[in-house]
Amino acid sequence: MTSSNVFLIPAREDEGTQRLSEKTKKIFQRLNFTEHIEKNSFVALKIHFGEKGNKGHIKPLWLLDTINVIKSRSNRVFLTDTNTLYVGHRSNAVDHTMLAHGHGFDARKLGIPVVIADGLIGRNSDELSINKQRIKAARIASLFFDSDVLLCLSHFTGHMLTGFGAAIKNLGMGCASRAGKLDQHSDVHPKVNPKYCNLCQTCFDFCPEQAIKEKEGSAFIESEKCIGCGECLVVCPNGAVKMTWDSDKIRIQEKMAEYAYAVSRIFGQKMACINFLIHITKDCDCMCKGASPFMDDIGILASLDPVALDQASVDIVNERNGKDIITEKTGVDWSVQLEHGEKIGLGRREYRLIEI
Ligand code: SF4
Ligand code: SF4
Repeated sequence: MTSSNVFLIPAREDEGTQRLSEKTKKIFQRLNFTEHIEKNSFVALKIHFGEKGNKGHIKPLWLLDTINVIKSRSNRVFLTDTNTLYVGHRSNAVDHTMLAHGHGFDARKLGIPVVIADGLIGRNSDELSINKQRIKAARIASLFFDSDVLLCLSHFTGHMLTGFGAAIKNLGMGCASRAGKLDQHSDVHPKVNPKYCNLCQTCFDFCPEQAIKEKEGSAFIESEKCIGCGECLVVCPNGAVKMTWDSDKIRIQEKMAEYAYAVSRIFGQKMACINFLIHITKDCDCMCKGASPFMDDIGILASLDPVALDQASVDIVNERNGKDIITEKTGVDWSVQLEHGEKIGLGRREYRLIEI
């Protein structure tokens, strides 16, 4: 089995926006990826805009030069992310877009729009049959099926469920629709906590399967009818609908890798990934606090292979710390996503690191 090329360009946040933008463009160009961008093709830049209050997310102006290179090939370039499973500032397209604008991801600055991938309230989802061990059909945000090219831009961080989150997580969890996220996070359907339900019936109207009815003075979900779309979780004004998070950190990583594989199937060779190992925090960018990084910045890595890219990223982070700092900080065996990703054909763990 041959190894995949992973490019690395050392970088620090304090070098400033202009320099980081030039470096991002430089590493992007080393991928020789622009040949896949045809005139008028839809180019999706998949990113996490950062939860409100988060400081570690990728900064919009780091992308400016790369965006201009892509725009020289096609004008149909846009930034995108999916709505969240939980109630917050990114659970519908209006709040999510406003938050992105607030964080500087704005057409006036970058020359490209933000388009939320799974629609106004996260209902725009399509299925792709993959027949893998955990996932038979992946539920991916519809926008990705209509896009021609995907550039996956990920901020490398620790993560309490998967050890670390980078390209595989951004593809697998990040491109899944709400139903797909629920698929990965839980094996059981949501439940209503009667203590918080005032029977307002909002969820009755939103449930596409009429799976919610009244029982003993509160809403009740009939699990045999529920398809796990997750809408009731976000529409309940009282936070009465709860899901049971899957605490099995092997299962969630395997599902996530299988979802990432589904996304890679949609795009084939027209997918590339860039990881930013800058402002590396213990928790991911869904956290709303301005957490401090736990180590010095490393730089920007890029590859056409998400498994090789994440393997190289986590190896460098651990090497710089002289120990497996990711497991130490999160208590999670992060290797599962890489091992499973390789097993199912998402990519290779063996890589050739090329420093620019
Ligand atoms: S998850 Fe979807 S299908 Fe299931 S009860 Fe909630 S809204 Fe209905
Ligand atoms: S939306 Fe919430 S409070 Fe209203 S009926 Fe459904 S579970 Fe109860």
